[in-house]
Amino acid sequence: MDQILEAIESNASAEQFAKVSIPESYRGVCVLKEDVEMFAGVPSADKDPRKSLKIKEVPVPEIAPDECLVGMMASSINFNTVWSSVFEPVSTFGSLTKLAREGSWAKRHDLPYQVVGSDGAGVVLKVGAAVRVWKPGDRVTVHCNFVDDQDPTSHNDSMLGSNQRIWGYETNFGGLAELSVVKANQLMPKPAHLTWEESSVNALCNSTSYRMLVSKNGAHMKQGDVVLIWGATGGIGAYAVQYVLNGGGIPVGVVSSPDKADILRKMGCEAVIDRKTAGYKFWNDDNTHNESEWRRLGSDIRGLVGEDPDIVFEHPGRSTFGASMYVVKKGGTVVTCAATSGYMLEFDNRFFWMRLKKLVGSHFANYQEAWEANRLIAKGMIQPVLSKTFALEQTGEAAFQVHKNLHEGKIGVLCMAPKPGLGITNPELRAKVGESKLSYFKQ
Ligand code: NAP
Repeated sequence: MDQILEAIESNASAEQFAKVSIPESYRGVCVLKEDVEMFAGVPSADKDPRKSLKIKEVPVPEIAPDECLVGMMASSINFNTVWSSVFEPVSTFGSLTKLAREGSWAKRHDLPYQVVGSDGAGVVLKVGAAVRVWKPGDRVTVHCNFVDDQDPTSHNDSMLGSNQRIWGYETNFGGLAELSVVKANQLMPKPAHLTWEESSVNALCNSTSYRMLVSKNGAHMKQGDVVLIWGATGGIGAYAVQYVLNGGGIPVGVVSSPDKADILRKMGCEAVIDRKTAGYKFWNDDNTHNESEWRRLGSDIRGLVGEDPDIVFEHPGRSTFGASMYVVKKGGTVVTCAATSGYMLEFDNRFFWMRLKKLVGSHFANYQEAWEANRLIAKGMIQPVLSKTFALEQTGEAAFQVHKNLHEGKIGVLCMAPKPGLGITNPELRAKVGESKLSYFKQ
């Protein structure tokens, strides 16, 4: 790896990169098939990613003609790595077995280990024979949409592809590693004013929020829209707040501590609800909603911004979904991409149909949406929300913090980068954006 790192740090040319020797194995953060039952009977909250995420030396796979081998400088923790590490709602090894049925290249993924991770920034080391756009030495970020471009169902919106997958979650050879194998159409240019770790935390959450709010495939927000954002300093929420502010909307951010409320105010989000202080109890018990608490949330929102939300940015799921569907304005839209607290959702349909509301399901982003979202980062118009950076060996602890909601924004992980702060090639743009905007989340 030393030779690779040396080439990256000296900004070697494509020709020099092409001569760099690729090692036979690399270090990656893995879940192991033999561990799938390790948490049987343990409550979800007590399943500990520090026990299941293991660093393993694994062989470097051969790359397919449409793939690239990327030297990963940094990656990040997404909630899907938490799901993989606690083997919930199902173990991700099933996805690898299913993928393997698609042909000889796909078979490579079905292994007794899975290198996880769905984000990353690094340098292209090797390209397959069919790759035209990228070359060794290109500095890139990786988005996680793993699409079969010979599948006709992928060609209107690739998120509708019949075998669309998330790299590093439903595939092997993910980003929390020194090397990674990606399809060429997962690559995007690395934002030049950012460090490796700042560049590595955006693609998954930023693109998801872009599709949910900005894209015509999502809520297609317009100027002046009031948008209620749950988890407004979390991974996707922190980008959502920025999209609402950039687009001339009015964000109402929900968080669970005064520190998080302060971050929101620094970002320019004036309407803030601390859900812990408010103490909402949307459920009386496991089966009974408390409609008066939905009304209380609605009246708190009106107290802050004078009206009901046009859009609710929903992802906590079972604990908040009934309230989200209730508080959204007549004719308004709830857009959802997840259900962290439980996926069997309930809401009162009378308020839904009589008030002509809309519900939009959203999942990651197609290449064009991810590219647009990355372009806004690269122009300094959307900021990374990196709070902490861990070493590759500490990935279990980093995932534990996300699982336990002990974090803010995004947690970065250094893969090959020897220390934080490296990788900036456009300091002028960085100075123009300003360190303060880049550090709302930094601890
Ligand atoms: P995150 O960084 O953990 O942030 C989520 C935030 O939601 C938390 O910080 C918390 O904020 C809030 N929250 C958690 N449980 C809650 C509850 N019961 N009630 C109200 N608020 C709650 O996670 P993330 O990266 O933003 O991801 C959020 C969810 O979206 C995850 O389930 C993830 O898997 C999913 N996701 C899906 C996609 C997709 O493509 N479909 C993409 C990205 C993420 P406070 O404690 O401050 O309120």
